[in-house]
Amino acid sequence: MFIDRATIFVRAGDGGNGAVSFRREKYVAAGGPDGGDGGRGGDVVFQVDRNLNTLEKFRYKKKYQAENGAPGSSRNCTGRSGQDLVILVPEGTIVREAETGQIMADLSGDEPVVIAKGGKGGAGNQHFATATRQIPRFAKPGTPGENFTLQLELKLLADVGLVGFPNVGKSTLISAVSGARPKIANYHFTTLSPILGVVRYGEAGESFVMADIPGLVEGASEGVGLGHDFLRHVDRCRLIIHVVDVSGIEGRDPVEDYEKINFELRNFDEGLSARPQIVAGNKCDLATDGQVAAFRQYIEGKGVPFFPISAAAHQGLKELMQAVVEKLQTLPPVKVYETEFVHREALPADRSKYEVTREGDTFYVEADWLEQLLSTVNMNDYSSLQYFQRVLRETGIIDKLEEMGIEEGQTVDIFGFRFEFIH
Ligand code: GDP
Ligand code: MG
Repeated sequence: MFIDRATIFVRAGDGGNGAVSFRREKYVAAGGPDGGDGGRGGDVVFQVDRNLNTLEKFRYKKKYQAENGAPGSSRNCTGRSGQDLVILVPEGTIVREAETGQIMADLSGDEPVVIAKGGKGGAGNQHFATATRQIPRFAKPGTPGENFTLQLELKLLADVGLVGFPNVGKSTLISAVSGARPKIANYHFTTLSPILGVVRYGEAGESFVMADIPGLVEGASEGVGLGHDFLRHVDRCRLIIHVVDVSGIEGRDPVEDYEKINFELRNFDEGLSARPQIVAGNKCDLATDGQVAAFRQYIEGKGVPFFPISAAAHQGLKELMQAVVEKLQTLPPVKVYETEFVHREALPADRSKYEVTREGDTFYVEADWLEQLLSTVNMNDYSSLQYFQRVLRETGIIDKLEEMGIEEGQTVDIFGFRFEFIH
């Protein structure tokens, strides 16, 4: 069975915690702080592997986790960064965040894409010594890595899609004009997965990609739940070659076949019926001149280009491919989906959202945005600290603390960064 959809769970590595440590030196009673920073967590990265052509492997493994960053240690040693986890997917894989359905990436190129970002390492206590606080007994924790449930969907990337009933000669055609070698047999249900072939033309080695899309009723009538599903793979094709058996050798009527397929396309997606088509009347070697002429008249009467061919006998293929190349030159490039998803850290934070809880004499302030802010503030730098205090005031956190009855000298804890409250 051809697997072109999957749901998986990915988790980036957490950042390592910063260390609390003090120098120990001979003859020095209490050395300064030397706790190193935690390492960053590994990212989960997606990348195209052209040797893959299905999402099969995601049936067996559904959970993916990048490495955590190691904690910092003494002597100002930064913890080791977690390794990125690279997930290889076939070209044309669309990654969606499952909750919102938003597109996170369309893996249509060679560029690796970070899907889940690793957490940042926490700062070690080496950063927190000030003139008045020489023994900082705190460090910052690492931040957690992002995690997502993802929906993967493979939408083949091809310039041209072959569409038609089973047995009309689609696989024969693609193997006649490209290096693709699909199974060809004189019975229905031969092609169970789409096949890509590169068609070369011209002196300079120009080429385009053709996809052999399984016939509409092949899988469906076999009860394996395929059929219409495959139309999804026509979605990105710039041009459709509608292959019709003009010989009626199987007791079928070419006009009826042509209309039925178009009906299915329209039914699946209005956009597909608007996709430019070229009709290839196949098996002309078995058809009478009259049959070919009648079908040509019908198709051309609709303003659609018609080419009589025999895929098996390699007749008319040059003319057909020439027309395809010319048409492609007038069409927009293969559709690549835009990214819709915005990672939380890239969003402007809503600073009115925070939570204050009290435990004895300690007041804990929590907010995602505050945690991020904290990691950018240098506690050794006066102006940086002032900025931090101003934010606490402007966002109403100071007021909130006072409302909760905080008194001079009690402790405020913001993600491990602690200070004494002073009015
Ligand atoms: P598909 O199901 O559309 O992929 O059709 P295939 O390419 O597998 O072809 C089905 C049968 O038709 C095979 O037995 C082919 O050899 C035969 N066939 C394909 N093209 C031609 C043609 O141009 N002439 C003749 N006589 N037979 C053909
Ligand atoms: Mg086939």
